[in-house]
Amino acid sequence: MIKFEEALKIVLENMKPLPYEKVSIIESLGRVLAEDVIADRDQPPADNSGMDGFAVRYEDIKGATEENPAVLELVGEAKAGGEPPAIEKGKAAAIYTGGLIPEGADTVVQKELTKVEDGKVFIFQELKKGANIRKQGEDYKKGDILLKKGTKIRAAETGILASANKAFVYVYQKPKVGIITTGDEILDIGEPITSPSQIRTSNTYALYSQILEAGGEPVILGFAKDNPEDLKEKLRNAITCDILLTTGGVSVGDYDLVKDFVCTELGVEILFWKVAQKPGKPLAFGIWGEDKRKLFFGIPGNPVAAMFVTEAYVKPAIRKMRGETKVLNPVIKAKLIGGYKRKKGGRKEFIRVSVELTDEGFIAKAFGKQGSNILTGMVFANGFGIVDIGVTEIKDGEYIDVMLFDTSFLNKEL
Ligand code: AMP
Ligand code: MG
Repeated sequence: MIKFEEALKIVLENMKPLPYEKVSIIESLGRVLAEDVIADRDQPPADNSGMDGFAVRYEDIKGATEENPAVLELVGEAKAGGEPPAIEKGKAAAIYTGGLIPEGADTVVQKELTKVEDGKVFIFQELKKGANIRKQGEDYKKGDILLKKGTKIRAAETGILASANKAFVYVYQKPKVGIITTGDEILDIGEPITSPSQIRTSNTYALYSQILEAGGEPVILGFAKDNPEDLKEKLRNAITCDILLTTGGVSVGDYDLVKDFVCTELGVEILFWKVAQKPGKPLAFGIWGEDKRKLFFGIPGNPVAAMFVTEAYVKPAIRKMRGETKVLNPVIKAKLIGGYKRKKGGRKEFIRVSVELTDEGFIAKAFGKQGSNILTGMVFANGFGIVDIGVTEIKDGEYIDVMLFDTSFLNKEL
């Protein structure tokens, strides 16, 4: 059985970012740039004022004081978006934030240091030459690379795109991720329950949300019973997907057909099946499609196993396809309150923990019931505490690595 690290390496080595597509700036948030963005002009495009006040010649206000102000003749105004008047010796123009610096002026005196009377401006203080002027190109110059290919677009990046007059931008495509839910016992929401052996699907929707969280495009491809005909039919819907997920039917149970059928029906080449991890041991992974650029994950049915595997393998794969470079979830060290014990240490175990940030740093508490069927443990948790192969006990107060899947606990409460 291969180890977790090897399995993850195989997944990430056997895939590439998707091709590019053009999106509108208002749909670009969270996408990854597939082009460099170049400045089409200087910013600011010309010297302008950082203050409301008066544009003057430094020579004219040299030596000005409260008792002995410089007195200048007021000649017009320089508003943002307007054409400024020229300034000659002994003259000043009213200027507003963003207004272009008039020809002849070299300094802006803020309003608070002045007084206006009978068409004259009194300046009560000498300022440094060039004061309150925002220089042409001080933010960036025409031709500068403002954003590099590979940058993930946040709010600030959309601001830059707009400044550079980009209404559309090339980004990596989002992967389409299909979900096929399998199991004779599985019912969708709303279907009538007729027997205690029936289970409502949680996986379909938990995985759907995880795909969205990672920036993929989820598609529910259907619910298949554990029989060849139904599976074949549902698998046919998968061909338009970049990533196919099946849940259920990958262990060695009698009706576990999925693994064999994806191979015969879709031509999946299985690269591994079974990983030394808990939960999620029976995970299967393969590649398929033209140039083998599509991925297949055969995900176990147990709800916690399904969510863990999606978090640890599928989300990084989605992020990589979207062109992201930081594809793995953050891992932090937290003090484990209450400790953790297990009988066997043969597999790397990922336990449901809730992490908090306190004055002493990160503190983690493990959920009481760690079974891979206990979905409420995922509601309790915001991370997976990692117990390495060979380790059977972590004592109270010892540190544990935690793979976080939700970082909203870092926000402050009111
Ligand atoms: P399997 O991997 O098909 O052997 O399923 C393992 C366990 O997970 C069984 O107890 C199933 O009932 C349960 N299970 C399978 N699929 C789902 C699902 N979509 N939602 C919730 N539980 C499931
Ligand atoms: Mg099943």
